[in-house]
Amino acid sequence: METLGETLSKHGFFFKKKFGQNFLTDKNLLDAVVRDAGVDENTAVLEIGTGAGALTRALSERAKRVVSYEIDASLRPVLAETLSGCANVEVVFRDFMKEDLPALERELGEYAVVANLPYYVTTPVVLRFLEEAERCRGITVMVQEEVALRFCARENTPEYGAITAAIALKGSAQITRRVPRTAFTPRPNVDSAVVHVAFTGGVEADPRAYREAVKCAFSSRRKTLENNLMARFSLSREGAKELLRAAGIVDGARGETLSPADFARLSALIAPYLK
Ligand code: SAM
Repeated sequence: METLGETLSKHGFFFKKKFGQNFLTDKNLLDAVVRDAGVDENTAVLEIGTGAGALTRALSERAKRVVSYEIDASLRPVLAETLSGCANVEVVFRDFMKEDLPALERELGEYAVVANLPYYVTTPVVLRFLEEAERCRGITVMVQEEVALRFCARENTPEYGAITAAIALKGSAQITRRVPRTAFTPRPNVDSAVVHVAFTGGVEADPRAYREAVKCAFSSRRKTLENNLMARFSLSREGAKELLRAAGIVDGARGETLSPADFARLSALIAPYLK
């Protein structure tokens, strides 16, 4: 049996750092990720970053269908070999960030995202699903451990930030497993973790106003929320204080001290200021 390295070099493939290419091979780990995602024979899966196809193959064994995006067309001959016989897999050789998500959703119906994400686009990819997806039931992604901790953070901790609050609008995140750097080829400088974000049970709020409230609160981390509100909505100091009092938020609060429920109350009060 050929090793991954042998298959790749046979096809003249070389790793490209700019695409965040760190591949997995451990079949037990890959099967566990597929289980973490709750994939079964009724699930349509969207994968971002096919790589050499190891996760794609594990998904293909459990899912109804897998649509997998890969930006690097030089992987085409590798994937023709590693995914041979996977009849329910379609690999699309395009930049996922440039795809028309609504059109893709119309084609997929309800789907789950499962991916070992390239680190350089982790946040934009996750934000894209949080903000634009309508038929996604959840995302299960392998990311740098530090990023995974941010996704799952509680308010009043250094890890809590705009992405944590954005996740709370859609549902909730939990780390399902830690993955040491030794599991990847080539080996990265940091460890990773798998995070499952279920898109159910998020806080009740108008999405646009909630996102504005989060953006405003984290626009300058050094400033208090009061100062950020004044700058963002041209409010007087008294006007900003009044708004915060009405939302039940204490004086001197900063973005990282606000719970998702605080953001939801604040969003209802700033909605009239949005054009
Ligand atoms: N899924 C494979 C695995 O687990 O071994 C590969 C994971 S590797 C971390 C990320 C993959 O995403 C790379 O193959 C890279 O070329 C691809 N990629 C990077 N940016 C992308 C983009 N914008 N759209 C689609 N694929 C991308």
